Amino acid sequence: LRDGRPPRQMPFGPDSLTRVILVSSGKGGVGKSTVTANLAAALAAQGLSVGLVDADVHGFSIPGLLGIPAGTQPTRIDDLMLPPVAHGVKTISIGMFLRDGEAVVAWRGPMLHRTVQQFLTDVFFGDLDILLIDMPPGTGDIAISIGQLLPHAEVLVVTTPQAAASDVAIRSGLVARQTGQRVIGVIENMAAFALPDGTVIDLFGSGGGAAVAAALSETEQVPLLASIPLSPALRAGGDVGVPIVLGDTSDAAAAAIRELATTL
Ligand code: ADP
Repeated sequence: LRDGRPPRQMPFGPDSLTRVILVSSGKGGVGKSTVTANLAAALAAQGLSVGLVDADVHGFSIPGLLGIPAGTQPTRIDDLMLPPVAHGVKTISIGMFLRDGEAVVAWRGPMLHRTVQQFLTDVFFGDLDILLIDMPPGTGDIAISIGQLLPHAEVLVVTTPQAAASDVAIRSGLVARQTGQRVIGVIENMAAFALPDGTVIDLFGSGGGAAVAAALSETEQVPLLASIPLSPALRAGGDVGVPIVLGDTSDAAAAAIRELATTL
């Protein structure tokens, strides 16, 4: 990353034609990154020009989910960086800038802020229709930095159906709104799924997505945009770096994410 030079003009300011959508969650492990990677691939498959910034600095998983080999770096041209393209998605991740074994867990706020700022200014995405940003869970330094850098961004909140998850998801939506961002919808992930004999298994309960949408709708209507069921195929696709939205048409989770991509 670049040090010491003044930051370049931010290409995703209020005058930009690119929609910037932050994908947030209250806590980790709710499937935010899996959903974001699949949503990005589904949007690109629709013919849109899509960028994806992995800002989940402490748990970056986007390169793996999109099948970008470990060690892949952006192509440098002078002091600009061209992001690798995976499944049609221009992708950048903090993981691409770390030396072997290096971790960012000890980075403090200002360092994180500079890093995010450089992602947004020094990476050349070209003309994008949509830039998705995979946010770290919760409401920490990165969320505040991105709130300041992209006050016009739209926000999607991911939660599981479980009450404990939905409570923290509500908080992350409220914090995003405080920085002026607009919460455009809630995505419920890990929802109930049906066995071949029709038995419905709701491992994480039900109602969390609707509860978050209702709680965030006090000032402005926030819809529950999708309910994505638990799906071994969705998980397996992530493990091998092939988003299932691009393949298996019979999977209910893939169908839900593809449908979500058409409604955004
Ligand atoms: P987060 O980004 O919120 O921390 P991840 O996307 O890393 O969450 O997902 C956490 C784990 O849950 C991963 O192993 C992922 O494969 C799995 N997972 C996510 N969504 C689903 C789902 N709908 N069905 C089954 N497994 C899922």
